Amino acid sequence: MAQRQFQTEVSKLLHLIIHSLYSNREIFLRELVSNASDALDKLKYLTVADENYKAIAFDPRIDLSFNKEAKTLTVSDNGIGMNEQELIESLGTIARSGTRSFLEKLTADAKKDSNLIGQFGVGFYSAFMVAGTIEVISRKAGEDAAWKWTSDGKEGYDIESASRDTQGTTVTLYLTDEGAEYANRWSIEDIIKRYSNHVAFPIYLTYDEKEYDDKGKEKGSVTKTDRINSGTALWRRAKAELKHEDYVEFFKQLGHDDDEPLFYIHTKAEGTLEYTTLFYVPKKAPFDVFHVDYKPGVKLYVKRVFITDDDKELMPTWLRFVRGVIDSEDLPLNVSREILQQNKVLVNIKNASVKKLLAEFKSIAENDKEKWGVFIQEYNRLLKEGLYQDWGSRDALLDLVRFKSTAAEGWTSFADYVSRMKSDQKYIYYITGDNEKTLRSSPLLEAYTAKGIEVLIMDDEIDDIVIPAIGRYAKKTDDATSEWEIKAVNRAGADEELGEKGDKEAEKAIQPVIEKLKKALGDKVKDVKLSRRLHDSPSCIVADESDPTMQMAQMLKAMGRTDMPEIKPILEVNGDHPIVAALKTCGDEAYFEDVAIVLLDQALLVEGIKLKDSADFVKRLNKLLSK
Ligand code: ADP
Repeated sequence: MAQRQFQTEVSKLLHLIIHSLYSNREIFLRELVSNASDALDKLKYLTVADENYKAIAFDPRIDLSFNKEAKTLTVSDNGIGMNEQELIESLGTIARSGTRSFLEKLTADAKKDSNLIGQFGVGFYSAFMVAGTIEVISRKAGEDAAWKWTSDGKEGYDIESASRDTQGTTVTLYLTDEGAEYANRWSIEDIIKRYSNHVAFPIYLTYDEKEYDDKGKEKGSVTKTDRINSGTALWRRAKAELKHEDYVEFFKQLGHDDDEPLFYIHTKAEGTLEYTTLFYVPKKAPFDVFHVDYKPGVKLYVKRVFITDDDKELMPTWLRFVRGVIDSEDLPLNVSREILQQNKVLVNIKNASVKKLLAEFKSIAENDKEKWGVFIQEYNRLLKEGLYQDWGSRDALLDLVRFKSTAAEGWTSFADYVSRMKSDQKYIYYITGDNEKTLRSSPLLEAYTAKGIEVLIMDDEIDDIVIPAIGRYAKKTDDATSEWEIKAVNRAGADEELGEKGDKEAEKAIQPVIEKLKKALGDKVKDVKLSRRLHDSPSCIVADESDPTMQMAQMLKAMGRTDMPEIKPILEVNGDHPIVAALKTCGDEAYFEDVAIVLLDQALLVEGIKLKDSADFVKRLNKLLSK
């Protein structure tokens, strides 16, 4: 019985990894080597940036060895190491809430789960796919004590004091019978070449080689150590030297991703600033991309020394799905992580990188339909975030975001919309809500549809925040800029282009009904108006021009905002509709009130808004039906 229990989520993760990744279990070695490489990166940084570590003689290396008979495999590094506390935290708990809620999404259906886990860095625990017991001996740089962590990957682990000559970590796997195939020189070399060739530190493999005498008879064996990876930082090598497979391998190691990247861009800047960037866009958005404590995907290096992978300012937040490396020649090596954000060099690199990425996105949008489809599916929402946060990129992003539309299948851009616009149309129209189907059948669209005016369907909750903040779309041609205001159809004032409806006489005749409706509905509504946008439906609701929409208010409330003032809708009624027309001659006050409330409540329902008192609605509706 182990002394210490794993956090529940760790047990869950272990179970999942072992059961859903088994067919690809060789990745365990990539994960262990990648951890060793991170540990070397961290120590390297300290030895150049921190006085307290300068005395450490640092000759970074990763050592692999195995024993066929004992069925063991060992991965050792002389990196930063872990002390007792860090062992407990790193190898027994899951700290990040993004990871935890990812685990909550798991269904226990191995097939579905293995799709999910593809987006998720499995890490250290993957070694339990091949090992029955794992032993980790670690000594933190700058400390004397070493610790041994042991576990069978079931319920928990033990920690006891141990000894180690230098700082670093040694992970020993006691392989299971099925895992025993990895205690083998050729399979280790093969896996390292395929997955970890471009790890920037040397990886050595120690093995025994048999020796033979002149007559070919075995006379014993010698122990040899070979370096088995190429080990130069991949991004520093010339593009011409690198093959697609090299980039893919590096991406898999960097992003703990088993899939190929969707695309990548490798840039070397020489001039006033000298730096290299290598950016990857994954095929699937990182699993934690919408969590506050997401892990940023870009690592900062200075002259090949790793500085940080945890700086959320290195890239604009909307680009947090990008994985990769920035390596600068101009920053001082001992640059403090705290002041990075104000650093001019870095700001320049960041701006240039964003431009580069935007240009690449644009080129894919124009030239590669298939890739673009995947990209938009995964990242449209992040592009919209960018519209809202990153003013410098706004024009470029306005051309990249896509929407659904009443006029076309698939995705529509603002440029598509504008190219289809009627010649006298003044505005770009859109409707927002949380359900595409509801939106498409909204009464608000009736008059637009009748007039052949296209309306963008925006069913992403972020649209309601982003689009009003943008306000307009401009299109530049060589000699002119045209600009259009973007208007929500569910707002008062968006119906001006629909023209007058009916004649003045009819409008006059309905006026008393409108006044009576106002009275009957009282403070349930902000106003009641005769509608120009309705054709078939008797009523609809719209928001006042300066108010948030009802849907948005509902969403903000659901997100926990309590300070929202109550938003009241404007009710619009269709004077031509028989229900409304009949009210002109209605003398029954109680009947009138029932109709008034049903007109309002059904208009709310159609827009997907929850009624405050649905029992009351049903009661009134039944009363009306039974008449
Ligand atoms: P990840 O590497 O994605 O954070 P892992 O489960 O692989 O997840 O590792 C968890 C943590 O354990 C690492 O973040 C690191 O802090 C620590 N760790 C793992 N291996 C080593 C190592 N060889 N040296 C130092 N720390 C390590």
